[in-house]
Amino acid sequence: MTEKNNSLEKKYEFAWDKYTKKDLVEVSALSERYKEFMSKCKTERECVTEFVTRAEKSGYKDLNDIIKGNLRVKPGDKVYANNKGKAVVMFHIGKESMDKGLNILGAHVDSPRLDLKQNPLYEDSDLALFKTHYYGGIKKYQWVTIPLAIHGVVVKKDGTVVNIVIGEDDNDPVLGISDILVHLAADQLEKKVAKAIEGEDLNLLIGSIPTSDQKSKNRVKTNMLNIFNEKYGITEEDFVSAELEVVPAGKARDYGIDRSLVMAYGQDDRVCSYTSFEAMLKLEKVDKTCITLLVDKEEIGSVGATGMHSKFFENTVAEVMNAIGDYSELKLRRVLSNSQMLSSDVSAAFDPNYPNVMEKRNTAYFGKGIVLNKYTGARGKNGCNDANPEFIAKLRGIFNSENITWQTSELGKVDQGGGGTIAYILAEYGMEVIDCGVALQNMHSPWEIASKADIYETLRAYSAFLTKA
Ligand code: MN
Ligand code: MN
Repeated sequence: MTEKNNSLEKKYEFAWDKYTKKDLVEVSALSERYKEFMSKCKTERECVTEFVTRAEKSGYKDLNDIIKGNLRVKPGDKVYANNKGKAVVMFHIGKESMDKGLNILGAHVDSPRLDLKQNPLYEDSDLALFKTHYYGGIKKYQWVTIPLAIHGVVVKKDGTVVNIVIGEDDNDPVLGISDILVHLAADQLEKKVAKAIEGEDLNLLIGSIPTSDQKSKNRVKTNMLNIFNEKYGITEEDFVSAELEVVPAGKARDYGIDRSLVMAYGQDDRVCSYTSFEAMLKLEKVDKTCITLLVDKEEIGSVGATGMHSKFFENTVAEVMNAIGDYSELKLRRVLSNSQMLSSDVSAAFDPNYPNVMEKRNTAYFGKGIVLNKYTGARGKNGCNDANPEFIAKLRGIFNSENITWQTSELGKVDQGGGGTIAYILAEYGMEVIDCGVALQNMHSPWEIASKADIYETLRAYSAFLTKA
């Protein structure tokens, strides 16, 4: 138990202490499933494709087919809606009327990365390169001299979608961004860290062989265009309608000699997305309608048609109510305002290398369970969703009765910086919302670190929330 009945003092304990041999087998099995998912799904599109495939196998029906066929939805049914291949919402319909409120797990499937620009390809000094524009908050110096991969789609004029992944198969080449050799870095090393590598320096080296056509003006670039055309049937103009994302190449791995941690790209926020998805698939009969909502664009402000600010979620709830035969505008408002949500997103784990940015009594620690963040924000909680104590009390009651290990955290010291999530956007409906998820080291870096115990406790907490809250 995280809270001793016979003690007045609250002690935050290791989840590891309570695990039996059988528990440890489950902790390890979950981390294997998680690593496999993380190794394969490195973009929002890849996550949504994978989740939709798995959901369909598990009996989820496409809401579009229900609408087109004018079909009815009833308690026990499982329905999903795919938002342009980049966000997805899953419904497991409960026995109770939806205006009793929904239990919602909301997470995001986009992660910080480098996107190719619209005119990415150029030749400079007999090398072929891609221009990039970073997406989300990154420390640019972390992205040079590491193996990178390209994942994404090119959409041709006729609407054909060409899927591209370069750099993940063992036989694939990898790509990368150069850094100046230390011998000649005297000027660079005098710069501030934020300026040492600048946005326009993040150019990806992709080739160096010239085409055999001696008359061609940019022989190396021309050779690359030939390769793209042979391999993918695309021309230079096709890059204009593409979403190609540069991400760290390689698989998710165990981290630490005791194998207690996972190192993976994109754990913000796919660690919460994946555990929410598993919790959803585990549901059997539910009283309240349960929802997992996985959105795009959180890292750039939840904007756009696939971000949390779009009306997609609200519209989808209305469609599902209509398919149940119980829709009215007023009822929709009631459904949303009576709902409860875990805004499932990552927190910062205490890092003994950088103790000065954390306040030790209000920070998360590896292995101490799922993290509850009453608030995030910056400069006096600005812009945050400050969760209601009534809701937090209900959650800790559920977590304690299920023997789930949990802890609380703030994002660093007061006035050290800050951040936000999708929590405040759903709270606009008047629903109860709290930020709740897994603590990471190296957040927003190419390789983020999470504790296997925390991932396991988070899955258990999400399951308990869906069925008991
Ligand atoms: Mn996040
Ligand atoms: Mn983030």
